[in-house]
Amino acid sequence: MSAIALSRKAVKLMKLCDLEGFQSLDDLLQTAAADSVCPAICMTEGCDYTAAMEPDQDQGFCEACGGNTIASVLVLVGLI
Ligand SMILES: [Zn+2]
Repeated sequence: MSAIALSRKAVKLMKLCDLEGFQSLDDLLQTAAADSVCPAICMTEGCDYTAAMEPDQDQGFCEACGGNTIASVLVLVGLI
């Protein structure tokens, strides 16, 4: 895994926190871990579409850009 991919994940994680109204990544993860669906975000550059997805989803369909590019927050942080 390249440094570029990692930093994009970090950027997307922070964006997801922001869009979902969480103060910190910890708050977001606690909510995600306690539910059957969890916050997810499109990984496409420039597309920040968010949706509720299965916790292990890493290629969910993005209604905004049409790609199978949505990854859940748990996938992004590498817990799954
Ligand atoms: Zn998208």
